[in-house]
Formats: sequence, C-alpha cells, structure tokens
Amino acid sequence: MQTLRDLGAAQQPQWPNQAALDAAVGKLRSVPPLVFAGECDDLKSKLAAVTRGEAFLLQGGDCAETFDGVTADNVRNKLRVLLQMAVVLTYAASVPVVKLGRLAGQYAKPRSSDTETREGLTLPAYRGDAVNGFEFTAESRVPDPQRLVEVYHASASTLNLVRAFVTGGYADLRQVHTWNTDFVKSSPVGRRYEQLADEIDRALTFMKAIGADPDEFHRVDFHSSHEALILEYEHALTRVDSRTQQPYDVSSHFVWIGERTRQLDGAHVELLSHIKNPIGVKLGPTTTPDDAIALANKLNPENEPGRLTFITRMGAGKIRDLLPNLVEKVTAAGIQVAWVCDPMHGNTWEASSGYKTRSFEDVIHEVQGFFDVHHALGTWPGGVHVELTGDDVTECVGGGEALAEIDLGNRYESVCDPRLNRVQSLELSFLVAEMLRK
Ligand code: PEP
Ligand code: MN
Repeated sequence: MQTLRDLGAAQQPQWPNQAALDAAVGKLRSVPPLVFAGECDDLKSKLAAVTRGEAFLLQGGDCAETFDGVTADNVRNKLRVLLQMAVVLTYAASVPVVKLGRLAGQYAKPRSSDTETREGLTLPAYRGDAVNGFEFTAESRVPDPQRLVEVYHASASTLNLVRAFVTGGYADLRQVHTWNTDFVKSSPVGRRYEQLADEIDRALTFMKAIGADPDEFHRVDFHSSHEALILEYEHALTRVDSRTQQPYDVSSHFVWIGERTRQLDGAHVELLSHIKNPIGVKLGPTTTPDDAIALANKLNPENEPGRLTFITRMGAGKIRDLLPNLVEKVTAAGIQVAWVCDPMHGNTWEASSGYKTRSFEDVIHEVQGFFDVHHALGTWPGGVHVELTGDDVTECVGGGEALAEIDLGNRYESVCDPRLNRVQSLELSFLVAEMLRK
C-alpha cells in the first residue's frame, strides 16, 4: 500500500526510532478530538462570507509556539491583542471580522536548510518543538516522536484556556477598556485605541438603554489554526465524524499547507484533499496561475466557498507585479477562494547583528499593495495573516516606537521568525481599518 511518505513528502523529520514513532501515533489515534467537526463547518461558513466579500479574516499568532510558552499569561496576551485588533477592524471599518488564532498546534516548522552551523559545529536544524529541541546540542536536536504527543497536550491546554477566555467573560465587549489598561499611558496607539473603546462604551450603554443586549456582546467566536506539516501527527488526528461520516483533521479548526510543501502531487496536498476542514495554501512569488488553479481543483473540486483560502506572501517589492495576474486568472477560472495577505514571509532579512527581522514598513507596504491590487481588479481583499505576540518584544524594526536594529537584542524571544509586538500589531490594525474603509 502506498503511504503518504511515499508521495515525496517534503520537510519531514527523520525519526530515529520506528517503534517510538508507532507508539506515539498509536497514542494520538486514541486521544479525544481537540475540535469538533461542527465547529470546523461553522468556521467554513464564516470563511464563505469572506470569500463573498462580506467579512474579513484576522489570522495571527506566533511563528512557532513552544511548550514553555503554554502559560496563562502568554496565551492571554496573545488573545488580548487579537481581540483588540478585531475590535479596531470591526468598529473602524464596519465589517464582520473572522478571528482565527495561529495557535494551539503551531509547533512544527519547515526549514530552508536541514542543518544549522554555529562556530564550526553543524547540527540538524530546529524543526519546532513538535520535532526536536531548540537548544543547540546534538542531543537536543535529535527528533523525538514523543514530542508529537506533547503537541497534543500543549494544544489541548491552550485551546481550553482560549475557550474559557472567549466565552467566560474576558471577551465581553464591556471589557474593551480592560484589554488596554497597562497600555494606555505609554503609547499613542494605546491612546487612540482608548478613544475608540470610549465610543464603543457609549454605543453599548445606548443599546442597553433601549433593551438590546445580544449574546454577541458577551462572547466571541474564535477558532484555531496551524500549518499541517508533520504528516504522522495530522493523519493520526484525522477522524471520521460520526454525524456526517466525513473525515476531519480534529487537531485544529483550520489547517494550511506551507509554501514549501504545496507540490500538487505531494503528500500534504493529498492528505488535505481528503479532509473536510476549511484549509489554506500559502502562495509565494514563484506561484503561477496554473499552479493556483490546479491546487484549487484538487483541494476544492466542488468549488465550495469557504473551503479554500489562498494566503499570498509575495514580498513588499513584488506583490504589485505578481498578484494581479494570479488573482485575475484564478477569478476568470471561476474559482471560489478567499484571498488573504501574509505580509510577513516575503519580507524577512538578517540584521547586521545576525537577528532575523522584518520591517514594519515593509509589512504595511505589502498589505497596501494587496488592497490596491484587489481594489483595482474588483476582487475582495479578504484578510491578513500575521505573526504577532501580545508581548513587548523587539523582533521587527520600525513602527510607532521606531525600533531600530540596535534594539533587537533587548527582547528577542522568537524561536523562529520575528513577530510584530503588541504596539506594532495594534498599529497594523488601525492602518488596515483605514484601507478597508476606502
Ligand atoms: C510560516 O507561516 O511560518 C511559514 C513558514 O510560511 P511559508 O510556508 O509561507 O514560508
Ligand atoms: Mn514564520
């Protein structure tokens, strides 16, 4: 029988011990689902609204989550900045915002090189906590399949906390000020947010006075997503839903295929073609319109709106040249897809200090290019996909605080790509809200 691995699976770890891998996979096959099929369908119908141009997607979180990062503070801070961004987008642009965390499962990373060399020592590259350790020692870099089981537990804890936060009062719209409290005095964007929160407060008081207090004021819909990279993990968590008899990947509501694993005849496309979750595909600068159309035909043969999202990541300098032809041809082929902009992965560079970084201005330029291209074509700029954190890290340069290269060492905590910090994320949401209003 042909296995997924036989299909030229890219970016897979070389597990050193088959028995240990079998044991981990066996365990994963027996654990309860992290998400329900009905929740995935609910997200799919929200993404169908994005596809129709009636809603906007905000997808964000770490480049790579870590097991050590599963703490209440860390999860709350990430959620808080996403909620603040969503409020800015919803209120300032008057569009419904679909909130999708890049969290509770984002533990595996594709790498451009299989090895990493430091001071003459070459070791296997770090592939995320799902595979091996970040520490630069030979021992820690050995892939350990038991880590896949740990991914499940870390995802379960994160999702449990997120579910409690979004339904248990923290996401109540009357908390709009509370999300901002330790922020207001210190930054102009914090003050700008505070003014918006005041307006929302007045609107809520008015609504209450006239007797309207719908459920939506007290809770939000929030879903999880990650890159479906490690085949053994995603396959072990794919289950046939008892209600519909259809297979769903119950590791997350939404999964996507990365730029390095989107080969049409590859294992990742094959696996995701069989599940019913809403899915995404990253499209980088080498993507031809034919590639995109073939991917859509294979991954969404019924052309169901909401099933497929294309996440373009062209780079600020290329998007205006490359995106028009792609969008035009895909649209002309009658393909139903949500277009989302990842303004991060085409804009990474290395600072002279050696830190991987991105400039906030490049990020904004790419998003602006994305909006301009879609406006010119009459298509809908459906959302943004960003790497961010709720903490005051110094990983991307620029923004209102004018972080410089020299500042990067102050608080650089990402184990993979640089993330927007809290101020930069909120600034981005105000700028995107303006683009949406036009
Ligand atoms: C990522 O999203 O972290 C990533 C690796 O993206 P891409 O597949 O677009 O390079
Ligand atoms: Mn990344």
